[in-house]
Amino acid sequence: MTALRAVVFDYGHTLINFAPAEDALLTVYEEIRQLLTAEAALDLPEAPQLVGALSRRVNEMVVDSYRQGDLEELDILNLFATALAALDITIPRDLIARIVELEHRALMATLRPDEPNLDVLRELRALGLRIGLVSNAHFLPTLMHEDIDRLGITPYIDVAVFSSELGVRKPHPAIFRHVLDALDIPPAQAIFVGDRLRDDIGGAKKLGMHAVLTRQFRHEEIIPELPRPDRVIDRLPDLLPFVHQLMDSRG
Ligand SMILES: [Mg+2]
Repeated sequence: MTALRAVVFDYGHTLINFAPAEDALLTVYEEIRQLLTAEAALDLPEAPQLVGALSRRVNEMVVDSYRQGDLEELDILNLFATALAALDITIPRDLIARIVELEHRALMATLRPDEPNLDVLRELRALGLRIGLVSNAHFLPTLMHEDIDRLGITPYIDVAVFSSELGVRKPHPAIFRHVLDALDIPPAQAIFVGDRLRDDIGGAKKLGMHAVLTRQFRHEEIIPELPRPDRVIDRLPDLLPFVHQLMDSRG
C-alpha cells in the first residue's frame, strides 16, 4: 500500500452546512420582480408566487433529474428559461443571468464559514497533503468559486471543480478523475470525504480512492444496496486519525 498524498472533499453538507433561506428568497424575489417589471415591462405575479413559479420550479427540475439518476449537469439559465416560459415570459439570456445571479447571492449570503472544518483543511496542508474539492452544483461556476472564496475555503484548496463547469456530476468518474489529474495523484493515494453514499462514496470507491462518509450536517444510513465507506465520521475533525493511519502505511 502506498502512503496518502491527497484529500478531496465534497462541499455542501461536508465542509459547510446549507440552511434554508426562506426570508432571503422572498426579499430577493421582490427585487427580481422589480427588475423584470422595469426591464421587460411585464405583468408579473407577486413575489411569493414568483418564488414558487421560478425558484421552486427550477429546484424541482433539478431534484427530478437527480431522481432519474442523470449524471449530466443541467444548465441553470435553461432551467430558468423553461420556468419563465411556463409563465409565458420570454426574456433575453443576459436578463435571465441577472436573475440567477441575484437569487444565488441572496441564498448563499446566509452561508457561514465553519471554523473547526477550516482548521482541518489547515492541518491537512500542514501535513504536506494536497487538497481538492468536487461538488455537484447546477449553479454558475463563477458564483460557486466566489462562495468558496468568501467562506475562506479557497486558500486551502489546490483544485476545486463544480459539476456545472465540467458538465457531469458525481458519481461520474470523469469529475473525480479531473481533480486527481490536476493534483497529479493516483486514486489509491487519495481520500474522498462526502455526505452522500451514492454520489460521493460510490464514485470515489469505483475509482479506487479511500472514502469517508461524514454525518456532521446530514445523516445517511449505511444500507446494503448503497456503496460502503471505509470510515464513517460524525464531524470533520474526526477525519484526522484515518489520515494519519494512511500516511503511516507506507510500503
Ligand atoms: Mg454534499
